[in-house]
Amino acid sequence: MTAVIADELTGGPTLPQRRRLLTEVPGPRSRALAARRDAAVPAGLGSAHGVYTAAAGGGVLVDVDGNSFLDFASGIAVTTVGNAAPRVVDGIRAQAGMFTHTCMLATPYENYVEVCERLNELTPGDHDKRTALFNTGSEAVENAVKYARAATGRQSVVVFDHAFHGRTLLTMGMTAKNMPYKSTFGPFAPEVHRVPMAYPYRWPSGPDNAADEAFAQFAMVIDAQLGADEVAAVVVEPIQGEGGFIVPAPGFLARVAAFCRDRGIVFVADEVQSGIARTGDWFASEHEGLVPDLVVSAKGLAGGMPLAAVTGRAEIMDAAHQGGIGGTYSGNPLACAAALGVFDTIEADRLLARAREIGDTFVGELRMIAADSGRIGDIRGRGAMIAAEFVSDADKTPDKAAVAEVVRVCRDQGVLLLTAGTYGNVLRFLPPLTMSDEQLADGLGVLRDAIAAL
Ligand SMILES: *Cc1c(COP(=O)(O)O)cnc(C)c1O
Repeated sequence: MTAVIADELTGGPTLPQRRRLLTEVPGPRSRALAARRDAAVPAGLGSAHGVYTAAAGGGVLVDVDGNSFLDFASGIAVTTVGNAAPRVVDGIRAQAGMFTHTCMLATPYENYVEVCERLNELTPGDHDKRTALFNTGSEAVENAVKYARAATGRQSVVVFDHAFHGRTLLTMGMTAKNMPYKSTFGPFAPEVHRVPMAYPYRWPSGPDNAADEAFAQFAMVIDAQLGADEVAAVVVEPIQGEGGFIVPAPGFLARVAAFCRDRGIVFVADEVQSGIARTGDWFASEHEGLVPDLVVSAKGLAGGMPLAAVTGRAEIMDAAHQGGIGGTYSGNPLACAAALGVFDTIEADRLLARAREIGDTFVGELRMIAADSGRIGDIRGRGAMIAAEFVSDADKTPDKAAVAEVVRVCRDQGVLLLTAGTYGNVLRFLPPLTMSDEQLADGLGVLRDAIAAL
């Protein structure tokens, strides 16, 4: 059934950039696939929207029933340059015709090296850098910890409240939220320690105290409890992703970075979600002038091909012994070709500036919606990484049900959204940076009506 619809469609830039509903959502073909899925795929793999994809292009996704959705999720911050972006697709096609794999550890190839060169240039700081490529965000975070341990000879890793770093054994332990990420899957790797995040909206003594008080606790834990000379790395998302698009209080991360520098602790920015143009800079760290020792990128890096990277100071990256780092598929040539297409698209189409414009559009509209509805307690983010936190009263009680309802109503009207947040009460917006003003206005209109109807 999928083939029938897909044959009539071409994804990529020629796909009509419109929202159009032909059936109820999910339609009959999606429901039939869901039944097959339930018999073949384990229940623990969620599928938020339940509509099965036939084709996608730019900011539109067409399902197997022919419904066209505006995509405000980008496959979780992945298709930043639009789905099936022309330079990405061309790069993959050309590379697939030459060779599909050799293994970088055996017979290397040029586009791996070129991706590393580009990331060495694009990440913050003009120090001597090296980049290593991996398959997933979690795998890259794990490797950042390996580099930090090898370079420092220390073991402890410090992470923050509301953090998300992945689903593998080490990164599960680094992730804050029990359900659904950790529950029943322990025990976790040792020597991972958690400190408060300067979360302005929910800081107990008010947003103005968040940076000072969170930093004091961070410094106390490391200096007094762990011992700074036992700490290999501090790992932080410059804007927390799954935790609810939490933008740390101004100045907090700069103080954390300076503290790490003074004590020889490797400062790792997990930019898996916030990196690669999402926030209007190549990396969110740039906004506050941070120069992390290691930067982890993944999601937006290769237009959906599995690719992740650790970029960092040459002396840290070169500290791991030969053969200690790597993987069979890491830095696959198709994924590298896609990444080069992503870099070129961001530059040629000026998508850094576009991310900022999109952010302004969203924030402006969300402020008006918030003034009318009274259910939005906080609007935050940067560039095209924007969120609204929903609360049910003046005590900021998280309103998860309202967010779930808005997501469902918007999906039924042809707009795809994602949730986030430790309390599940955050609506997050991650539109592709190629979306037109008309598409943004259309999707935001649907959102406004969905919130008004709560
Ligand atoms: C998604 C994410 C990860 C994990 O990436 P995977 O590719 O899903 O393993 C790690 N860190 C952050 C900040 C993320 O958003």
